Formats: sequence, C-alpha cells, structure tokens
Amino acid sequence: MTGARGLVARSRGEMGSSRFVAKGAAAAVALARAVAAARAVAAARAVAPARAAALVAAVLALAALPGAASAQGTGGAAPVATPAPEPAPRSAPALPPVRSKVRLSRLTCASGCGAAGAVQPGGVLRVRGRGLRRTAQVNFGGAPGATDDVAASPLRRSRGFVDVHVPLGAVSGPVTVLDRDGVTSAPAPAPVAVEPATHAVDGPAIDVDVQAPTAYFDAQRPIRVAYVVHDDRPVSVRVELVRQADGAVVTSWSPGVVAPETPQVVHWNGLAGERVQPPGRYSFRVTAADEAGALRASSAQTEDPSGAAPGPDPSEFLFLGHQFPIRGPHGYGEYAAGFGGGRGHQGQDVFAACGTPLVAARGGLVKFKQYHSRAGHYLIIDGERTGVDYAYMHLAAAALVDKGERVRTGQPIGYVGDTGAASGCHLHFEMWRAPGWYSGGAAFDPLPQLLAWDRSA
Ligand SMILES: [Zn+2]
Repeated sequence: MTGARGLVARSRGEMGSSRFVAKGAAAAVALARAVAAARAVAAARAVAPARAAALVAAVLALAALPGAASAQGTGGAAPVATPAPEPAPRSAPALPPVRSKVRLSRLTCASGCGAAGAVQPGGVLRVRGRGLRRTAQVNFGGAPGATDDVAASPLRRSRGFVDVHVPLGAVSGPVTVLDRDGVTSAPAPAPVAVEPATHAVDGPAIDVDVQAPTAYFDAQRPIRVAYVVHDDRPVSVRVELVRQADGAVVTSWSPGVVAPETPQVVHWNGLAGERVQPPGRYSFRVTAADEAGALRASSAQTEDPSGAAPGPDPSEFLFLGHQFPIRGPHGYGEYAAGFGGGRGHQGQDVFAACGTPLVAARGGLVKFKQYHSRAGHYLIIDGERTGVDYAYMHLAAAALVDKGERVRTGQPIGYVGDTGAASGCHLHFEMWRAPGWYSGGAAFDPLPQLLAWDRSA
C-alpha cells in the first residue's frame, strides 16, 4: 500500500495534463471495441488522448483507502472498517444529460392496424427517425409511471426506421428507443395510439408476450409475461418457464381457469427453489386445457397469424443477474486502469464522460456512502444474494441513494465524475468477496464480469 503513494503523488502532479486516456496497447483484443468507444468519447469532448499520460490515468491507489489506518490497532477479532468520513466539497455543478444519438421523428402502423393509424397488440409499429440501427429495444411508456411500461426487441432495423412487434400490455403513450450504449432517446414527437386487438383468431390459440426482452434479477419491476387465450370457453391454464439451453422447465404457475380474450399477467422473481437462476435465455410457455383436462392450445404451437417474417420470439427473454453500471458511451483504460495495474489497484477503471448516469450493477443494501480524498464520492452496495460488495467511486456528487437503503438492480445511483484523486472522468469499480469491502473480504478482478455485462447489454 505504501508503494502506491508515490504513484498517487505523481498522478496528482500530472493531473490535468490528460483528461482522458484511451490508448489500449496492453489491453486484450477484447477491449479494442470499448477502447474505440472511449476514443469517440474523448473526441467528442475535444480532448486529445495523450500516450505520455498513460500511467497517470486512473492512478487512484484506492488500495490505501479506509480500513488500513482505522482497522489496525483495534486488536480484536474481525475489525470492521468504518471509513472515516471526510467533508465533501460543494456539490458538483449540474451536468448536461447524456444524449442518445438516436432521434425519433414519426410512428406509423405497419401491420395489424386499428382505426386512424392506431396499432394493436400483435401488430407491428414502425418507428422512424435517425440512427435507428443502434436500437437495442423499443419502449412503450404508456401512462405516467412504470407499471404499464413494456418493451420489445426490433423485428428489423435500419438507419431510418425500426419495426417492432406491439406486445400485449402495450397501451397508448410515448415511445422511446434504448440504444446500444444504454442511453434512452427522447420520445417520438407524437405518442403511439394502441387499441385492443380485433383480429379474429381461428380455433383455440394462445398469444404470449414477455413485457421486456431483457430482464434483470432484483430489478425494480418484476419480470412479467402477458398472455391471452383465444377460445370459445374458459380454460384451465398452466404457465411454464423454460430454460432455452436445455428445454428444462425451471418453474411453473397454475393460475386456474381464465376467461378467453382477457389478457393475463404472470410475474417471475428470478428464483427457482429459492435460488437465483443462471443468466441466459428463457421463455414462457402457456398451455390451456378444458374441464376434462384435455389440451386445447399451447403457446408453443401458436403460429404468427400475421404471417410476418420471423423475428425475435415474443415469449423469450434474456435473464441477467447484473446490469452494466454505466449508461452511456464508455471505454476501458490500459494496464494502469486494470486490477493490480502494477500498483495494487483494487478495481477496474471505466472511462465515460462526466455526467453519464450510473446504475446499480446488482441490487442490494447500501453499506457506505461517503466522501474520501482519494475515492471522492463513493458508494458501497452489498449485492443481493451474492455475498459480494460492489464499490463505485469518483461519483460526480454524493450518490442518489443513502446508507441503509435497499437498492434494486439498474436503479440510478449517481453520475460518473472525477471527484477525489481522479485523472479524467471515470468510474472506479471494485468487487469484494464476503464478508466484504474492508471488513475481512478480498477484492478480485471485476473486469471479466464488467465485460460480460457490457456485452449482454
Ligand atoms: Zn481506479
């Protein structure tokens, strides 16, 4: 830890010579794309990446953070770190929001249309605008509040438009696009009008739509699926969650008898047998039986009535245990930004413009929210059902959540900044095994995890 002091001094002496370093000489090939993204950010900020300042970037030496001094000399068992709070500087100035490169201009109904250009669940909405090749998902915002929000993956996308299946549960309201950088666009100038489906369905059939194509464990909203049974009589329904990798039924629900043509919703909390299920692709399968128990319909057999080109299966979704914490363009630094970094660097630095929103990679309980001369504004979250502590440092201002607060995966926690001893705006991110951060646990290299979350975003 003492060895790091020299580097700290050096980095401080050179602070300001480089605001951003994105040259990725020592980085693995896998980082090349991200490095390019960082360059783009640097360019956008009109800052020239300086090779000379390579070591300087992100030399934070957080290894020496709190415990060392306070924990030593307690003499007793298992010293619990109580990082000494320091007075925080005055709040950082308001930062401009990160703007999506996607611009929406017009919403039109492409198929399964209602009156006056309205769309219907099961139909296709065409979203026109610019930069739409970057679309990750289309959001139907519905009424104010998040309870009726649904989202779907594009059926097809081009620069000027993206087509999306209108999921069951979508209601009239604003439409936005989530881009590949994790930034949500401004809404289309006019909201979409959604009216109930009227198209006739021959014989017993079941439509199933997940309410978001990507779902996170411990997120603010539970994972939801909506389904509707087309039949001429009430039927007894069973809903199964199927793991795509091997077709295994992970868990199931028996809602009982449901009325036809009446949308139903089932929630999944990401658990089966009290265990968090592994990340991967899952789908909901709904079957309907008559009073005698004879099968009348299964969603697995339902043909797309519109006969449209095959798109993403609306009953399938990607389940993830973590969300990548930076919502905006970002890049990984070189050797010095990595774990170890030749100086006992306890985490990974990820560079992004100051003001880029940060979300909790995993929900959990806020252990610490403080200011430190080197870490700046920082936040420690004890991850839900992980035994791992997640550390976020150099936030632009005090975190948006408080000590003791229960945070959910993907919940906003603050903004990328450069408070403390930081050369350039970045997130310093750490992961610590149980019992946790400066309380007997040990830090481990979070880069493989970050890259995995980043890829799946
Ligand atoms: Zn760092």
